[in-house]
Order: sequence, then C-alpha cells, then structure tokens
Amino acid sequence: MNIILLGAPGAGKGTQATKISERYHLPHISTGDIFRANIKNQTEIGMLAKSYIDKGELVPDEVTCAIVKDRLTWEDCKNGCLLDGFPRNTFQAEELDKFAKIDAVVNINIDFSLLMDRLCGRRVCKECGESFHVSTLNGATTCSRCGGELYQRKDDNPETVKSRLDVYDAQTAPLIDYYTKKGIILNFTGTEAPASVLFEEVAAVLDQKIR
Ligand code: ADP
Ligand code: ZN
Repeated sequence: MNIILLGAPGAGKGTQATKISERYHLPHISTGDIFRANIKNQTEIGMLAKSYIDKGELVPDEVTCAIVKDRLTWEDCKNGCLLDGFPRNTFQAEELDKFAKIDAVVNINIDFSLLMDRLCGRRVCKECGESFHVSTLNGATTCSRCGGELYQRKDDNPETVKSRLDVYDAQTAPLIDYYTKKGIILNFTGTEAPASVLFEEVAAVLDQKIR
C-alpha cells in the first residue's frame, strides 16, 4: 500500500505521518526531512536544496523526483510506503505515476488563517521529528516524546511561510483535483483540536482499506 499525505505547510502532515507510519508499518518518506538531512551533512544535494528551501520555493523537480525514485527501491518499501511532502506539483505526480502505484491520498484541508501562527510558533524535535507549538511548551526546550532537543526550522519565519503558502496554493493544491479524478483521495479537515483527534478519523478510514 502506497499512501500520499497531502496538505498545506502546517496542516499537520508530519504528525499524522508519524502516526500512520507506526500503525500500518509503512516507512515514512518525507522529502523535506531528506533535504534537511542533506543540508545538515552539507552534501551537494543539500547545498542546492538550501537555496530554494530558504526562500520557500520548491527544489527542482529533477532532483526531487530522482531522490524519491531511488528511495522507493529500498527494501523497506517492498510492502509500500507513506509519502509526506511529495508530490508537490503536477509534474512530480505524473513522474511518480511512472514508478509507483498510489493506492490512497490522505488530504488534510485546513483554514489558511491557522497556518501562519502554527508554523512560526512551531518547534521541531531534532531526534524524532515531532512538532510542538511554543504556546504549549511552557518554556521546555526538549521533546516530551524522546527527550531530544527542540529547534525552530529556518523556513518557519513569516516571510518564508508566506511564500510556502503561495507555492502550495499555486502548485500543490491542484493535486487535490488530480487525485480526486483518479478516485483515490480521502478528504479530512484539520482543526485546532489535538492531532490525535484527526488521526482517529484517518485511521478509521485507512483501517477499512488496509486491514
Ligand atoms: P512543509 O510542508 O511544512 O513546507 P516540508 O518539510 O515538506 O515542509 O518541506 C520543506 C521545504 O522543502 C519546502 O518548502 C520545499 O522547499 C522543499 N521540498 C520538500 N518537498 C519537496 C518536493 N516534493 N518538491 C520540491 N521541494 C520540496
Ligand atoms: Zn523527539
């Protein structure tokens, strides 16, 4: 079972991805995480990706598609995977169709007015990738899940967030239509409720498909 997670930046894809990946034993493949690991290790891909990510623009399709195509050949993907943050435009979706069969697309719709504050207040665990919001941390600087150090992503600032949301609107949102036409989209609504509430809804639907 290959599943795509679709949704605007800040919609909660990462948190849902962790939970879906655990429940259905699917490797969580996040292109954003792959790029950030490359930036940290100062690889060639990392250097290139950084210039786009810092501006809130998409990393070029050829690079991104090649990374995902290779990743899907790994042994852990033989029973499927969970793609988070890929595809992000129609070109990537069409490329993906050439090397993988997608069974379901979990689409998280969310009111854009919630996103600026969510993203700019977001703190992420360096170890496990879990996200938190400053307003709930009470000054804590470590992850309540694994004890890892929390940090603020460089692209979680108002200017970059604005351009990420514009990119989502212009390039990624059309994928909702793309997958609706294929009959594989599953629509959900993100709210201010805890992520576990949304996950219960998602799991109820995925259980029907997977088990
Ligand atoms: P978010 O969904 O919060 O924006 P991600 O971690 O998915 O965060 O992505 C961070 C950045 O990495 C994006 O703004 C973009 O620059 C780059 N990126 C991630 N996935 C892709 C992709 N599929 N194609 C092009 N660029 C990508
Ligand atoms: Zn953690």
